[in-house]
Amino acid sequence: MIPESYIQELLHRVDVVDLIDSYVPLKKAGANYAACCPFHNEKSPSFTVSPTKQFYHCFGCGAHGTAIGFLMEYSGLGFIDAIKDLSGRVGLPMPEDEGRPRQDGPKIASLTEVMARAAKYYYEQLKHSEAAISYLKRRGVTGEIAQKFGIGYAPGGWQNLEAAFADYGATELQAAGLVIKNEQGRLYDRFRDRVMFPILNQKGEVIAFGGRVLGEGEPKYLNSPETPLFEKGREVFGLPQARAALREKDTAIVVEGYMDVVALAQHGVGNALATLGTATTATHVQKLLRQVDRIVYCFDGDNAGRKAAWRALENSLEALPEQKSIGFVFLPQGEDPDSFVRAQGTAAFERLIAQATPLSDYLLRELATHCDLTSAEGKAKLVADAKPLLGRLQTPLLRLQLVKRLAEVSGFEQAEIERLCDLRPVARPAPARAPRQAPSLLRPLLRLLLQKPALAQRVPLGALPNNSAEARAVRRLCEAIRAAGDPPPPYAALIERMRGEGSESESDETTLREAAAELMQHPFAEDDIDAEFDGAIERLSEGEQKRAFAALQEKIQKLGVAGLSSEEKQQYLQALAGRGKAG
Ligand SMILES: [Zn+2]
Repeated sequence: MIPESYIQELLHRVDVVDLIDSYVPLKKAGANYAACCPFHNEKSPSFTVSPTKQFYHCFGCGAHGTAIGFLMEYSGLGFIDAIKDLSGRVGLPMPEDEGRPRQDGPKIASLTEVMARAAKYYYEQLKHSEAAISYLKRRGVTGEIAQKFGIGYAPGGWQNLEAAFADYGATELQAAGLVIKNEQGRLYDRFRDRVMFPILNQKGEVIAFGGRVLGEGEPKYLNSPETPLFEKGREVFGLPQARAALREKDTAIVVEGYMDVVALAQHGVGNALATLGTATTATHVQKLLRQVDRIVYCFDGDNAGRKAAWRALENSLEALPEQKSIGFVFLPQGEDPDSFVRAQGTAAFERLIAQATPLSDYLLRELATHCDLTSAEGKAKLVADAKPLLGRLQTPLLRLQLVKRLAEVSGFEQAEIERLCDLRPVARPAPARAPRQAPSLLRPLLRLLLQKPALAQRVPLGALPNNSAEARAVRRLCEAIRAAGDPPPPYAALIERMRGEGSESESDETTLREAAAELMQHPFAEDDIDAEFDGAIERLSEGEQKRAFAALQEKIQKLGVAGLSSEEKQQYLQALAGRGKAG
């Protein structure tokens, strides 16, 4: 754990404008700086950096964060690595226990070094293995592509890495997943007689290996275990190598195996990537959609491929922002991308990718195969099956499109489907019940708190309504500020403080981000802040009184005055008197 005080100190020393400017040239725009967003494609700049508040916000795609967040998003670094990078830039030494997986585990830096040395060793061994070379030749892999991907060979035998490391018993080798200790305490190489594919992070450092067995051994593919360097659900194979092609094509092709990636690269399809012994996760999808507008999953036509595609669909739903698209390609039975591109050629493969089945089509088609659409029961089942999937979608447009298609296929009305699936229709008038807190009341309060966190001490949390994202965001912000103690941390430090709190609600985050973005454009004048705050609090408690009054009225309508407790009657009378005075 990195202490929060360190993170605050670090954010204090780093200038987010300098940092981002070194990657994305910024132009002064009023009080802020602007550029075309590095996280989505755009022609006019909506990516804005605040020098005073030390955060960035994209008004196009919603990307938002601090210097730490920027490095994580832009370079694909993990939290610890981003902090490490920044600490090097500003010369603020990391606290002693940085990046240790356990109390006495080796440091990240030494693991990275170990992996680099192992990769070099395997790469050199390839030259000496005729079997491995002939395997790669059979697959049509040239020396150039083998070099581009750093493909190597782990020889047969049990302790080959002894040749590469003076201290074969070093804990780093085990922590990096290269060496295994058996029950008798004997050490041996994890990878033996395998063609080795180094897995790189976005910085180009080796963080893991995938090994393809030569011959008939099991398992056919063996990956590094998860280590402090390597989290399967985050990493993809081939990302640094694909970067230029991703930019050019604006599409990422996700395939099942590293050999597919290599074979496609060999045939000039440079924008393919593979997940590593795991289903495609929402994190993968987010990571890729930062770089491209379209993902196409290209899986084998067999059962395993269909299962993988469905998992990918499920995990894509919640990570899919507006204006991004996802497609699916299923290869003919018995084919994989490697065999397909070798047999049919690049143009045929590119055609498949261009004509990929859109996510909504695939989703409906797949659901429909489990329902008998000639019967009323089958149609109802279709809607019921779609319900959890629709609930995961974050994008109203795609949801609407799916609901429409569901309506066509099932014969239900669109409104019926929305009701059955508990979807709130886009423009239904608000129910005429207790007045909901107008968002406009709490928005200014949020902005005030972001501009002057010390005000959090004076917010009456009890007076906040329970029913809005704004109220939750105010509450969460106040709690974070109060917990951080005195003096209250600036906004950038608060963002980091709330990171990984396990936000129970994405919408709170979004609300906070939006408020911060508004503040960026329209900050309060320092002199006005206190008066604005007093006004906001006053309106808040008025709102609270109105809500209480409306609740009592509703109860009276249902149960009559006799249904009120004597305390409630008292409250009601007081409120009536107060309203008389006010109005
Ligand atoms: Zn953007």
